[in-house]
Amino acid sequence: MSARISLVEDTDDLRKMLSQTLSDAGYNVRHYRRAQDFERDLDEWNPDLSIVDLGLPDKDGMGLLSDISTKKDTAILVISGRSSITDKIAGLELGADDYLTKPFEVSELLARVRALLRRAGPKTDEKSETTTYKFCGWTLDLDQFMLIDKDGEHTRLSASEAALMRVFLKRSNRLITRDQLREELGDRSDEFSFDRAIDVRVSRLRAKLRDSTKEPKIIKTIYGAGYILISDVE
Ligand code: CA
Repeated sequence: MSARISLVEDTDDLRKMLSQTLSDAGYNVRHYRRAQDFERDLDEWNPDLSIVDLGLPDKDGMGLLSDISTKKDTAILVISGRSSITDKIAGLELGADDYLTKPFEVSELLARVRALLRRAGPKTDEKSETTTYKFCGWTLDLDQFMLIDKDGEHTRLSASEAALMRVFLKRSNRLITRDQLREELGDRSDEFSFDRAIDVRVSRLRAKLRDSTKEPKIIKTIYGAGYILISDVE
């Protein structure tokens, strides 16, 4: 079954062109001019990936991002005319999985879409790989992108946070370099953006794991080298 993609873009020409390109690439696409229509459709349509323009007429882009990333488990690719690093970091902190600055090549968009869908993985049950990990009193459920504490309290992860957590858990108690992370995650962004994005995701994961920022016990930073997840993993 082909992946479902939602596209929210208010510029008519661009929306039509992108939606056509994505359909031609074999994806199942719904497109929207307004944030309101996109949000209304989210529950029923349950897209694997949402491509979201931040400059929309009816809703602030950052507000929209934060709403969908906390409520839905769709992967999020931001396409924005805002190119500053601050905007990129803000977007990633609000739960975007990747960020493309306009104008961009269609081939670049397709490459990012493929990478995000691969990272997010199929939503349908595919039991060939472990989808539940237990570590340090926590359970990570990769089907639901859910982190569950020992009292059963649930915390949702974004698709990119879950993908990163999975890499850490698969290689626990061993140093993981940034290059290895980039390879495992299939990330194609430049080194600077990738490093910033990883820093942001690691700090979000630490917050969700209630780990200390100053002296983390679970995901440790090895300066100039990478990270180690310290725990036995079942
Ligand atoms: Ca716009």
